[in-house]
Amino acid sequence: MDMMQYRTVFRMAAAAAVALVGCRPAETQGSQFHPRDPASKTANRTHFGTAENMKPTYSASLYDITPLPPEQVKNLAAKLNPEAYRITQKADTEAPFCGTLLDNKKDGIYVCVVCGLPLFSSEHKFRSGTGWPSFHREFDPQHVARRKDKSLGMDRNEIVCARCQAHLGHVFDDGPPPTRQRHCLNSASLRFYDEGTALPPESRPVETETAYFAAGCFWGIEHYFQKGQGVLDAVSGYMQGRVPKATYKQVCRGDTGHAETVKVVFDPQRITYRRLLEVFFAMHDPTQRNRQGPDVGTQYRSGIWCASEEQRRAAEAFIAELREQKRFGSRPIVTQVEKAETFWPAEEYHQDYIVQTGRSCHVKNPW
Ligand SMILES: [Zn+2]
Repeated sequence: MDMMQYRTVFRMAAAAAVALVGCRPAETQGSQFHPRDPASKTANRTHFGTAENMKPTYSASLYDITPLPPEQVKNLAAKLNPEAYRITQKADTEAPFCGTLLDNKKDGIYVCVVCGLPLFSSEHKFRSGTGWPSFHREFDPQHVARRKDKSLGMDRNEIVCARCQAHLGHVFDDGPPPTRQRHCLNSASLRFYDEGTALPPESRPVETETAYFAAGCFWGIEHYFQKGQGVLDAVSGYMQGRVPKATYKQVCRGDTGHAETVKVVFDPQRITYRRLLEVFFAMHDPTQRNRQGPDVGTQYRSGIWCASEEQRRAAEAFIAELREQKRFGSRPIVTQVEKAETFWPAEEYHQDYIVQTGRSCHVKNPW
């Protein structure tokens, strides 16, 4: 489950250039759908607030979508104009053909007016003739949550922002292909950013960092790294060996030079590399050479494979601290610190092994 494959993100504008349009008569029935041209996508960075004691949640497009605590939503909502407050916080609806974004034809993204999470893209906007901005899909399905709405004697699906729960509108099954869905929005729930200028931090994706640790059998190590707050993904694999595309069989024979390694993709805004180092040293015995627990061989050696010069300096300084503190008594730390080479993901059946098999492991929970 490599979340990085979903890395599709947008660089866009800081200034919301919203063209104000006046109310106008209803369009005739049966007007044509005109899906917009695709918006260009490039990488950028983001970070947003936290609910306490809750493991941060990230969407497939790498946004931090951890639900905001009610107090934080309240503070953000207090900055809204009366109409946006009434619609997003009290689930009201703006009058048709009056919203400021109904006729907006510019390329860009539509973010939540309360918390800034990207919700819709101009790429998916179409003219529905209903009088409200309409989209045939979400920017990312994980950014828009659905709730049953039985108000007004109707059976509808309400849509809300997944991060702050702001009311957005409703979704219906009468949209155009390919989704056949119509997300019917209130302009007041959205803020539009033109494509091509910088977005504020709350509207940008997470800029992740990657770390690599070898600490014996990867099953338990991967399992506990995955539990870390701010860890987006932990993957089992092989590193620092001599042959490409190593397999478990080859590595087990011990003649390829690979070490069983866990790749940790993390959000440096939520967890530091130093904290990952602490956890790494808490999960294994760095004084054992080429063995951990019942496993013996060079593939089970202790190692930190550094993705940057900064990581190397941090790892070496941390080991020096441990030595000074005599954390492991008189036994020398034999952990290798090397520049990271190519990471080869292990076979699918090794991934999430502890969860998949229900087996336990000799590694203790370090968190
Ligand atoms: Zn929101």
